[in-house]
Order: sequence, then C-alpha cells, then structure tokens
Amino acid sequence: MNKTNAIAIDGPAGAGKSTIAKSLAKELGFIYVDTGAMYRALAIHMLRGGIRLEEIRNATDGNMPAAEALLPSADVSLQFEDGVQQVFLNGENVTAILRTQETGDMASAVSTNEKVRARMVELQQAIARDNSVIMDGRDIGTVVLPDAKLKIYLTATVEERARRRYLELKEKEPDTEVTVEEIAKEIEERDHRDMTRTHSPLRKADDAIELDSSELSIREVTARVLELWEQKG
Ligand code: C5P
Repeated sequence: MNKTNAIAIDGPAGAGKSTIAKSLAKELGFIYVDTGAMYRALAIHMLRGGIRLEEIRNATDGNMPAAEALLPSADVSLQFEDGVQQVFLNGENVTAILRTQETGDMASAVSTNEKVRARMVELQQAIARDNSVIMDGRDIGTVVLPDAKLKIYLTATVEERARRRYLELKEKEPDTEVTVEEIAKEIEERDHRDMTRTHSPLRKADDAIELDSSELSIREVTARVLELWEQKG
C-alpha cells in the first residue's frame, strides 16, 4: 500500500510537538496542521453554549449528551495564511483565543466524545488528502493517518513539560500566580484523561519512533526528525 506523504507527531501535552512540527514544516515546505487547535475551537463552542467543565471532565467514556447536542451547530474549519494555520468557528477566526488553560481543559474533556472525534478526524483526513502535511495531536499515527510515511511519538518528563509550560505562560501573562507544581498536576491529569479515554486514547503507534525531548534542544529534535524523514526517501 502507498504511504501518505505525511509526518504524524503524537505525544502528551507540552512535549514540544507544535514547536518541532512548525520548524519541520518550514524546512520541508509542508503544511503544519495543529489538530489540538481544532478540539480547542470546539471547546470554545461548548463553553459558549453553556457546558461547564465540571459537568463533563470525568466522562472518559465520552458520554455527554448536552455537549453532543451542540455539535451540529459547530462548524470548525481551517485556512492557511502564509503557511500559518487559522482556525474558524462558525466563520469567526478564533485562533488568537485558543490557547488558554480553560480551553485546553475543555478540549481535553470534549475530545473523549466519539462523535466529536469522528467529525474532527474526517476534516483532518480531507486536508491530508490534498496536501503534504505535518500533523500533530494524540491519534494521528494511530487513527487519522495510519499510513503516514513517518510517525514520531514525542515525549518528555512531566517535570520538563511543566517547566516549559510555566515559562510560556509567564511570558504571555507575567502577573500569573500559577506555580510549576500546579501546572505539573494539570499536565498529569490531562495525560491521564488522554491515555485512558475509551475512544482513540493517546498511545504510540506500533510503527512510530519514540523520541524523548527532555534533554534535547528544539534544533536537535528537528534535526533528528529530518534525518529520519530523509531515510524514508
Ligand atoms: O494539543 P493541545 O493541548 O492543543 O490539545 C488539547 C486537547 O485536545 C488535548 O489535551 C487532547 O485531549 C485533545 N486532542 C485530541 N486529539 C488530538 C489533538 C488534541 O484528543 N488529535
């Protein structure tokens, strides 16, 4: 079977997937598709529709009828401007408001729902049919692009991922009072939910190559993935 001309990058929150994927996309002239952003856009729709995180955060089986009822009224689409992904929710460009803690937690909760996942996967596969892509997420190598030419499973220790998130947050919101320990706890909760959910849990695809970025620079990880890509010829 022909392999899809694509790189799939999966792994837990904060492992460096998007940073690496962006720099690889530039290098290779591929489109970078951030699938987490799509789940985040849906999360905004659910929050605006009155769904509260507390109601659904423990539904790892994805059973959430109220959230599911809002799905038909959500139109999530992507556009690429100068290679940079823009995410639209019912025609509104929501890219700038996707990366908050609340949206991330809500995305993690709603993404346990099977219908939500089916909608997102369909959209992601359509983009990969028309373009050479680097796609990152949790289920890219296992479900979305099982035929991707190269699959990477990127990890890092919880401590290192929390430290990176903390620095990122401090830069955006210097007055934030959150501590590294609090972030580490949230990361562990999110990992747990992503890995134990019933539908498409986060796991390494059998043919994915695992890279631990804890002690590597962005440049080192990017160079390693490029090397692996070239070997795929
Ligand atoms: O990667 P990011 O933190 O933006 O993703 C937000 C949440 O969306 C993740 O915690 C995960 O639960 C969910 N997600 C997913 N499948 C993907 C991408 C993200 O379930 N392919």
